[in-house]
Amino acid sequence: IEKDTGWNISDSLKELAQLAETAGAQVVDIISQRRERPDAAFFIGRGKVHEINLLRQSKDINLIIFDDELSPAQQRNLEQALGVKVLDRTALILDIFAQRARTREGKLQVELAQLRYNLPRLGGQGLVLSRLGGGIGTRGPGETKLEVDKRRIRERIADIEAEIEQIKKHRSLHRERRQRAHVPTLALVGYTNAGKSTLLNTLTNASVLAEDKLFATLDPTTRRLKLPNGQEALLTDTVGFIQKLPHQLIAAFRATLEEVVYADLLLHIVDASHPRYEEQMDSVFEVLRELQADTKDIITVFNKIDKIENPNIIARLVRESGSVAISALTGLGIDSLLEQVQNKLRIITTDVCLVIP
Ligand code: GDP
Repeated sequence: IEKDTGWNISDSLKELAQLAETAGAQVVDIISQRRERPDAAFFIGRGKVHEINLLRQSKDINLIIFDDELSPAQQRNLEQALGVKVLDRTALILDIFAQRARTREGKLQVELAQLRYNLPRLGGQGLVLSRLGGGIGTRGPGETKLEVDKRRIRERIADIEAEIEQIKKHRSLHRERRQRAHVPTLALVGYTNAGKSTLLNTLTNASVLAEDKLFATLDPTTRRLKLPNGQEALLTDTVGFIQKLPHQLIAAFRATLEEVVYADLLLHIVDASHPRYEEQMDSVFEVLRELQADTKDIITVFNKIDKIENPNIIARLVRESGSVAISALTGLGIDSLLEQVQNKLRIITTDVCLVIP
């Protein structure tokens, strides 16, 4: 079912397949259906349900993932009709977050989002399918809580919220200390797989996990950066943004994304070699708006220019003011990026000096 975004069905499904593979699934087939509006009971039409059922039998499929959010009833009806586990994009993204969260806070945020997602889906399930489909959608701290009753889940949600609040307070103390020390902070934002971790590595020679999978970065990583003029800055990597990132997830990760909100300068990393880079940029801006961080100082960093053959394209990209073209992998353009950062920080710091007497 197509929504009025710049993404077409096939791009969105291709990305869904990549997400499924990131979660450990093997993608057997990709199916789409054009409809005026989703079916209330099954999301897709009855004929399509039948078609998928035949396909499932012939290809031995044990998991079906939908690109749009299913209502709890639709999910239940589909599982009953198809006899296999049925997930939607939200559950898949939550599963990937669950596998990859590293910090205590990251883990708590995922558990919270999973509990909130699962709460209306509890009860009335005709099939016990939690272990089918390679466990995808059932992993993570949320899974053991699925079988306990709703009251216990609500209590757990309250406990987690309280603990996250504590962690948040602790972090804000750290931030205050940093601000008193006048160390400017930069935050890397960008669509998932744009090259944020790679750039963080190149800039700081730190060995942060970089891999060609969606969502390699979940928790913020902060590194110290020395600029050519000797000034020091802190550089933070953030969670990768993605289209159709569920709203409750953005809310859940608001605390983690605080680093973005409080940063002095944002570096928006764009995979300029991606055919849909403009739509990816829009998705990032949407999240920044959601965080009320879209009016911050931003340098747009067009990355992966080593993959672009036509130099005219690169020239066109950087004609836009406040942007720079680089290759985080080969180091091309890093010098001019650092220079831009230095200049921007000089202006920002001057602004601060004017405000504070
Ligand atoms: P993140 O999700 O934004 O943190 O992206 P990563 O840093 O994990 O990079 C995603 C993939 O893109 C990895 O396979 C990187 O090796 C690759 N990559 C990152 N920067 C560049 C670049 O400048 N050129 C090329 N060719 N590949 C890059």
